[in-house]
Amino acid sequence: ETMSSNLIPPPDVLKEPIKIPPRQLFGPGPSNMPDAVAHTQSMSLLGHLHPEFLKVMHDVRDGLKYLFQTTNDFTMCASGTGHSGMECAFLNLLERGESLLCVTTGLWGRRAESLGQRLGLQTFVVEAPQGEVVSVEEISKAIEQHKPTAMFVCIGESSTGIVQPIQGLSEACKKHNTLLIADTVSRSSNKSDIFPKKKQSYFFQVASIGAEPFKMDEWGVDCVYSATQKVLNAPPGLAPISFSKRAMDKIRNRKTKVASFYFDALELGNYWGCDGQITRYHHTAPISSVYAIRSALSIIANESLEHSWERHKTNVKLLHSLLEENGFECFVQKPENRLACLTVVKVPQGVDGKKVTASLLGKGLEIANGLGESAAKLWRIGTFGGNSDEQKIRNVVKMLKDEVQNPTNKL
Ligand code: PMP
Repeated sequence: ETMSSNLIPPPDVLKEPIKIPPRQLFGPGPSNMPDAVAHTQSMSLLGHLHPEFLKVMHDVRDGLKYLFQTTNDFTMCASGTGHSGMECAFLNLLERGESLLCVTTGLWGRRAESLGQRLGLQTFVVEAPQGEVVSVEEISKAIEQHKPTAMFVCIGESSTGIVQPIQGLSEACKKHNTLLIADTVSRSSNKSDIFPKKKQSYFFQVASIGAEPFKMDEWGVDCVYSATQKVLNAPPGLAPISFSKRAMDKIRNRKTKVASFYFDALELGNYWGCDGQITRYHHTAPISSVYAIRSALSIIANESLEHSWERHKTNVKLLHSLLEENGFECFVQKPENRLACLTVVKVPQGVDGKKVTASLLGKGLEIANGLGESAAKLWRIGTFGGNSDEQKIRNVVKMLKDEVQNPTNKL
């Protein structure tokens, strides 16, 4: 008997090569990679502290400042998907016992609330009716009532397809004399020194970055995070994140240590070259994913943010009108509340929505069902980055219409 006979054998399937079908990704992400981004995935690995790799990280950091429209030093990526951005934001900016106001327009406000509770925070919610936004007035009222340490707003709500406006929020809050506004608007360290004892509030946002206008500094946002696999058209696995000066002051003056080494903004920020200090080993960055976001940011830099915002807006309007011409109805009633990169559509009466998406998937096209209880009632069509394209959108609507007319997809 040989030694190896005692081993659990390898699975036979692994003796076959991996099979990946081609697919047009028009769901809520991931989206399709352009060739330039895909090409980075076969480039040679470098060591995670090699000077050439650190240069790539610094390029990414500077590209993210452009993307977020910020001059914040602490602009970087958490290693992990979009959720790691939320975890990184909350872990750093809030301490046990502090409070969080969640502006809820769908799943992501609820997830923020759940994470807040897991972290021992006192959570408050201000919620919109389904498919609608919370008004700046309502949010201001909630801030006045609760005086929360932090407030979470999801700009691009991927479960309902709404865009939650925040412009004017800082002014509205200022009107109600909350400290948040004073410090956000002023954005100077001296100002926060004047009111060191007062409770401070912080903004968080998940932006549909690259598709919707977003100006971190101008809008007084203290922490923004995003993900790579949507408008950026890169593989999932990194969460771009930026902390304002005010946010960093709070982090530096915490009473307790951040309960995560991996997500500690000061440690992570050192690795990303945010603090001007000699780089220490923090973790091994996912090298290939950093190449991918470098390439994705290069595409946006070459196109320009203004052009990308405009293109997403024009193409999503085309999508809305094609859908309406073909008898479909958008879930979000008011066009001004609809996202420029994700459209939620009502499944027509008598149609089996899940059969339709399954059949489309078989033909190489992904559009997604709704989330949770609305799974069978809604479809979600993502038009992220390079997928925000007239011909591709015409094709998606044509294929969707063909499926709806097919008798096998009726209820
Ligand atoms: N926030 C929003 C608005 C999202 O759409 C998503 C992903 N669907 C996330 C956060 C979480 O990102 P991930 O799945 O990459 O962890």
